[in-house]
Amino acid sequence: MKQVLDDKQRNALLKKMQDRYAVLHEEVRAGLAASDNEDYRKLAGEVADSGEEALADLLVDVRLAEIDRDLEEINDINAATARMRSGTYGICSDCGAPVPYARLQAYPTAKRCEPCQRRHERTFRTPGAPTL
Ligand SMILES: [Zn+2]
Repeated sequence: MKQVLDDKQRNALLKKMQDRYAVLHEEVRAGLAASDNEDYRKLAGEVADSGEEALADLLVDVRLAEIDRDLEEINDINAATARMRSGTYGICSDCGAPVPYARLQAYPTAKRCEPCQRRHERTFRTPGAPTL
């Protein structure tokens, strides 16, 4: 399959992903540091009634869910840069058609063209997953 992106476009997308990667990396680092922070432990440890305990648990869950999402996005970026190296980046993983540059600019880690992505989401709908 023909590679539709020129070097300039690929480099622009790579730069976008590297910038995003740096942000995510920092978010994960800060998130992990925050869940280890003193006030937070106090909140989780000194709560008297079970209602507040549940709230503290919920906060842990929310924070972990955020870290989880960030890690997932980091994985997507790693996979996309690997596809760049192997020459399959920008090619729809389902139908093999080139993914339009405009779509890649909006979602540099997109694996599929828009029609295939929509079909994929209808088939494997996961609640709360971002719609690409
Ligand atoms: Zn497709």
